[in-house]
Amino acid sequence: MAQSRSLKSDEFDSLVIGGGLAGLIAAHQLEGTGRKVALIEGLDGLGGSCRPVSSRAGIIDNGLKFFPDTEEARACLEWLGNVLGESIHYTVVEAAPVTFDDGKFKPFIGFGDQKVATVSEVNVYAQERYLRLETTPKEWVARLTESFTGTTMMQSYVTKLHVDDTFVINAVINGAKHLSAREVLFCAAPQQLTRLLPDSHVPTKIRQRLMRGEFWTSVSLDLIHKGVVSESEAIHILKGANEEPCVGVFHKPVQLEDGQTAQLSQWLTLVPRDITDDPELVGGALKQIKRQVKRAYENSLDGLIQERIIVNPTSHGDFTGFLPPDGLWPKLQNLWVISGFLDPAKNLVGALCQARRTLASVAGEPIEPMALDSESAENSAPQANA
Ligand SMILES: Cc1cc2nc3c(=O)[nH]c(=O)nc-3n(C[C@H](O)[C@H](O)[C@H](O)COP(=O)(O)OP(=O)(O)OC[C@H]3O[C@@H](n4cnc5c(N)ncnc54)[C@H](O)[C@@H]3O)c2cc1C
Repeated sequence: MAQSRSLKSDEFDSLVIGGGLAGLIAAHQLEGTGRKVALIEGLDGLGGSCRPVSSRAGIIDNGLKFFPDTEEARACLEWLGNVLGESIHYTVVEAAPVTFDDGKFKPFIGFGDQKVATVSEVNVYAQERYLRLETTPKEWVARLTESFTGTTMMQSYVTKLHVDDTFVINAVINGAKHLSAREVLFCAAPQQLTRLLPDSHVPTKIRQRLMRGEFWTSVSLDLIHKGVVSESEAIHILKGANEEPCVGVFHKPVQLEDGQTAQLSQWLTLVPRDITDDPELVGGALKQIKRQVKRAYENSLDGLIQERIIVNPTSHGDFTGFLPPDGLWPKLQNLWVISGFLDPAKNLVGALCQARRTLASVAGEPIEPMALDSESAENSAPQANA
């Protein structure tokens, strides 16, 4: 715990800013060490990008939640299972990614010499093997929300962090209320720190990287199709000429309350981070997804039961190597960042890896390399399908 400050009765030990999955994990774990924790969330619900969503097909995950079968992903799931007190079981799906070209499906083998701005982000999804999880982020969020008994402040947006030389002294909520704590964990997009912190505490290199680096806004489309469109388990990477690719997957068919069979498919494309200001460009990205899906599956959009659009500013990007492994902010002794942008694994796995490292550091534990315990990984993956 960050030390050298006495705790006033109205102060917290830990402020966790951002109630997405990473923030919920942080709040839960810190509370487990006996700390007095406040979880501060700008919106009126918890879960962030992983919040559970009601749909005609039941409660679904908020957009594609793809877990590549990597050593990091398995190790993170094992760690998260310990956090949740319940192993996360999965099966390995071996299904090489596919694309649609010249009127037929083909194995996806990369973009060749085509110029694709989002290639490094899309490649994270283009895996031969992925993990089908028995419980998914929506269940983890529900469980963590239920178990956290500290202070949760919703509709509470942090608008400033006041600092002295080496400490964050307090966080300003909604421009008015001040909250202080001995340690602050920032679990939202790190770009915000360039305006939340005074200029004196944002090193030039970091500011430049956060302002000019490659960050992307996801434009996603969840489609609930009438009947079954595809039995393919493969990740689809669809792309038209001079377009950025869209990534998607079909889920197992479900039976709706009225007895009809339906199938959920979830699609995602990325646009440069500032493009959300331009509704036409977001609209263009959505049309592009639909065009690609229709090109590959001609009748798939006929009689759609439901469609849902999700635009999530700066959901994808890369900020690796600019902070130490535990995410401690330069020159400040009590501000840590947890974000998937900080970890090479990226996205959800990156956020989990980073949460694990940061929380170990905050709790004063040595930060261990994330070696996979193969025996227990096998235990949590009892079945493997081909
Ligand atoms: C549509 C979509 C599809 C995705 N698909 C995949 C996928 O298939 N595989 C994968 O690995 N990853 C995927 N991702 C990325 C993954 O969901 C995220 O990396 C991960 O959920 C990040 O979790 P987080 O808790 O770090 O951040 P977030 O979920 O972004 O949570 C941050 C929270 O902080 C709150 N907040 C922000 N600023 C403030 C503030 N100043 N004050 C108070 N609260 C604040 C926000 O409201 C939010 O609730 C996807 C993301 C999206 C949006």
